[in-house]
Amino acid sequence: MLSGEYVGADLSANEALLDAHPAEHLLVFPAVKFARKLPMLARSLLLCGLFMASSSAVAATIYKSTDANGVVSYSDKPTPGAWVFVFRDQMVEHLETQVRLDIQKRSGITAFVVRNELFAPVEVELKLDGVSNVRTSPPRLVRQVVPARSSVTLASLAARTVGQPPRYTHAFRYALGDPSARPRAYRYPLPWTGGPFQLTQGANGRYSHFGPKGRYAQDIAMPEGTPIIAARSGMVIKVENNQSGRGTDPSGNFVRVLHDDGSMGVYLHLMQGSVVVREGQRVGLGAALARSGNTGNSTGPHLHFVIQRNVGLALESIPYQFNQPVGSLPNFAVGGQ
Ligand SMILES: [Zn+2]
Repeated sequence: MLSGEYVGADLSANEALLDAHPAEHLLVFPAVKFARKLPMLARSLLLCGLFMASSSAVAATIYKSTDANGVVSYSDKPTPGAWVFVFRDQMVEHLETQVRLDIQKRSGITAFVVRNELFAPVEVELKLDGVSNVRTSPPRLVRQVVPARSSVTLASLAARTVGQPPRYTHAFRYALGDPSARPRAYRYPLPWTGGPFQLTQGANGRYSHFGPKGRYAQDIAMPEGTPIIAARSGMVIKVENNQSGRGTDPSGNFVRVLHDDGSMGVYLHLMQGSVVVREGQRVGLGAALARSGNTGNSTGPHLHFVIQRNVGLALESIPYQFNQPVGSLPNFAVGGQ
């Protein structure tokens, strides 16, 4: 029942009905009718409002059902035959093997060296406390951007008393990307081929789009195996391709692309083994990336697409718009291009 074909068939039937009998369906489809006249962002908020109206708590599970007339309704109450959505999309990315702090001790010198093996810059912060037995005191806090594929010495301590090492405690943290980058305006072409598909959770969606990393993400329901293509050119900087089912990471399989303006596009919940790009590969607009799936914390096949940037030792999602409405009637009418 959770198959993608169910989704596609359901949405197409619904929209065909709406097209044939617009007046009759005006009352039962108020949000959808009005949404057609609104810009994308407003439309996604409106759809979220529809979900929220039927959900009193911060519900993660929503039941979508379609009646004999093709009328779609959403509820937080279990409904026989309903399609169940459970969205928890927190991202967990393991960079610890690719961004490392090496503390090198040699001839009375202790050096703090960051090795960044990623194909993207990382912002790093080193904090030193309780420093003693040094010739000159180092800065307490060092924060800088380490370029892709490079090593940088953040600080070094020379022992004052020969034969005894410098003393200190240290803390190290980092975040992907360069916080000085300024994203340029860009309207994203749809990152898939086929369709039309429907947005199932927009920006600020209440199931899972409320944390800083995913607040402005959008979920698009689509059959597993739908080709996912780059919505913007850039450098592939992180991929995960081996997860099956829920796996160990809520993101499931994903591709992260660093755009030339420093922002990043992330395509999540991809099908296991479907990723066809590698870290360090440059991709152009429309390049094949993977196939959509249902991996990680996702119930119901969908693509979770989010744009993020480094806002200062943290990644946050930023608002974005597609360059056309998602799942709109004009798209359906031209045969799902
Ligand atoms: Zn999502």
